[in-house]
Amino acid sequence: MSASTDISLKDIAKHVDEERLWSRLMELGQIGATSNEGVCRLALTDEEIKARQLLIEWAQEMSLSVYTDEISNLFFRYEGIQNEKAPVVTGSHIDSQPTGGKFDGAFGVVAGFEAIKAMQDAGFIPQVPLEIAVWLNEEGSRFSPGMMGSEAFTSRRPMEQILAVEDAEGVKTADALERTLASFPGLEKRALGFPMTAFLESHIEQGPILEANGVPVGVVTGIQGSRRYRVKVIGEDGHAGTLPTPERKDALLSALEMIRVMRHKFDVEDMKYTVGLFEISPNVPSVIPSTAFFSIDLRHPDWSTLKTMGDAVETICRQNQGPCLVTVTEVATSESLVFPNEIRECISESADEIGIINMPILSMAGHDARQLHYHCPTGMIFSPCEGGISHNEMENCNPSDLAEVTRVLAASMAKLSQ
Ligand SMILES: [Zn+2]
Repeated sequence: MSASTDISLKDIAKHVDEERLWSRLMELGQIGATSNEGVCRLALTDEEIKARQLLIEWAQEMSLSVYTDEISNLFFRYEGIQNEKAPVVTGSHIDSQPTGGKFDGAFGVVAGFEAIKAMQDAGFIPQVPLEIAVWLNEEGSRFSPGMMGSEAFTSRRPMEQILAVEDAEGVKTADALERTLASFPGLEKRALGFPMTAFLESHIEQGPILEANGVPVGVVTGIQGSRRYRVKVIGEDGHAGTLPTPERKDALLSALEMIRVMRHKFDVEDMKYTVGLFEISPNVPSVIPSTAFFSIDLRHPDWSTLKTMGDAVETICRQNQGPCLVTVTEVATSESLVFPNEIRECISESADEIGIINMPILSMAGHDARQLHYHCPTGMIFSPCEGGISHNEMENCNPSDLAEVTRVLAASMAKLSQ
């Protein structure tokens, strides 16, 4: 092993510069800045192109090579000793919600730059190359659904389906993508799905747990899954005063019974059951409701529990339809997942080795790491965020927490690259 790979994780962590990390985050946050100190930087817009330019400038200053691919993901590469080997990759996204904050996604990308800068400054040369990935359109606020870059990269959604998505103005993803790619004609294009040794995503928690525990680093155990349904109950309208009760087909009463029974059935630990959308028609005071339409959102960290419970939705609706008819459609499914032990241990051991307090935590939200999990050994590192507030212009973090997460990221990448 060459001397440059013998540098300790502590040496690397020492070179993470809190001020540089913070000032880069603030610089990136200026692109698409809103008047309320938030960020509006939607995928494939002029603002997002400007943000890409800034990242490319940083990469050039650090002598990293820059690549893109057909879905316009970006990759910044720090060469190692055995450059034919699959890289250790970190990264996240730079698109935001329309009234988003400066940290969601951006932190994971900027932390990647800071981690590699720290390794360079410490004189550390990894055995395998290190890369920073910027995944296209994680948020899905302009082109929905999101996670386009990571889903295309991992072949989890067909490219034709992604390219056909239109924004609210009728602009196709394919056309916006072509425009973005044309803004960077000099970038070398790589094939989608190239092998990776591991993928790590740093992200703000977007919840209150780390802050409440006073712990700066969360080692993410997995991502809770979700199953989403739309239920339509069809009855028959009629006169509220004249139609006898036994002859009624009241869609509202049937729907309420379904919702009530599910509430009891799904009253198990860690299950989240939400009926967030509910409509009836004709929705007038003297007419028996002829249709009811509602949503069901089920979430649970354990996939087998979520699968069993979710599979019961249609049966429960049918058993409680009364005199009405019911149709149940599952509109979205995300499996709960557990990140591999080897990666979780690598993160927590690296943190322990450099003396940074950390705790295990479950991710309640989806991230690009959800897709990468099916591609290579994957893990996530969380930082606290103020009040657990995210997808909000007020989103805020403590600079020293972000630096601690970046130290753990740098140490974990160094360890994985050996
Ligand atoms: Zn995010």
